Amino acid sequence: MKVVGTGEDLRRALDRARVDGRTIGIVPTMGALHDGHLSLVQAARARCDVVIVSIFVNPLQFGPQEDFATYPRDERGDLEVLRAAGTEVVFTPSIEEMYPQGASTVVSVGPLGSMLEGEHRPGHFDGVCTVVAKLLHMVEPDVAFFGQKDAQQVAVVKRMVLDLNFGVDIAVCPIVREPDGLAMSSRNAHLSTEERVKATVLYRALQSGRAALDGGAGFETAEKEMLKMLEGGETVEADYARIVDPDTFEDPAPRRSVLLAVAARVGSTRLIDNLHWEPADAAGR
Ligand code: AMP
Repeated sequence: MKVVGTGEDLRRALDRARVDGRTIGIVPTMGALHDGHLSLVQAARARCDVVIVSIFVNPLQFGPQEDFATYPRDERGDLEVLRAAGTEVVFTPSIEEMYPQGASTVVSVGPLGSMLEGEHRPGHFDGVCTVVAKLLHMVEPDVAFFGQKDAQQVAVVKRMVLDLNFGVDIAVCPIVREPDGLAMSSRNAHLSTEERVKATVLYRALQSGRAALDGGAGFETAEKEMLKMLEGGETVEADYARIVDPDTFEDPAPRRSVLLAVAARVGSTRLIDNLHWEPADAAGR
């Protein structure tokens, strides 16, 4: 496994693979890897000849009041699990490598980036798009792998790839959960024992929303149901509980598949989760 820190070394590490016509898959991450990340690496291994994982805590996608400084980091542990998972190349650039002195160009997807999660984290998706665009340019992969855990990130990246003619396939992998339903996240490491128990409320809220929809409730009623459950938990502060169109993140059309999305602070840790819901009887709603 090669670990490289500069764009130049990265290109050199991938040159051979390109000459040999081997397909390249990239898994962009911010490190502190868990089984959710590893599911992406496995999907990449299954589909591509060469797997590259990037580890970069991207300052551009954190707001001034957010947790950039305290975001979990564990480079040594990450390299160990990536080696065991059969990764060929790991890219661990410095901030200076990714954002040279005076860097000022930002990629923005427009309205989609300021809906829902973007409303609560202004500028977040510009930061995501900018770093993903740079990684796609540097690596020129055949496939880039993302997790459904960050559903709006998936929609935003797909939009950008389409709008800016990136020649890459975007593969989306399902959410990996702990046995009690909590979606795996690097930020879960910040939860105290008590908060860890409370954190399951996000998934329970999604399930209550799904049950409401299954029972014939409208979107608004189901949203209220989810919010009620989120707000019922002590030390949990809801940011939103919404039902949206999975591509545009706008209000969904009736009788279409929708995305249930929640965000909440558990103690001082902000968590997000989501699930898809398909109407069982499209004509009946
Ligand atoms: P992050 O390191 O949080 O930026 O995540 C890197 C990639 O892993 C993103 O595409 C995430 O959506 C994905 N990911 C994070 N958590 C999970 C999870 N629990 N299940 C599936 N994918 C995940």
